[in-house]
Amino acid sequence: MKKGIHPEVKDCTVTCVCGETFTTKSVKDEINVEVCSKCHPFYTGEQNRASRAGRVDKFNKKYGFDKKEAA
Ligand SMILES: [Zn+2]
Repeated sequence: MKKGIHPEVKDCTVTCVCGETFTTKSVKDEINVEVCSKCHPFYTGEQNRASRAGRVDKFNKKYGFDKKEAA
């Protein structure tokens, strides 16, 4: 790597609104996130407030595609 053109990479604490914290490498000391792997519905398999009563759910209800039955 060329010297002088790369920012300093250091340990960084990532804090999620769900309370989860973990460390990673970044040029920042601290990062605040709204969703992480502990609370994102993709990883938890749960529906959260944001995706509830969305258009997809309305469609699924209308045509009888229940996610729990499909799974
Ligand atoms: Zn989280």
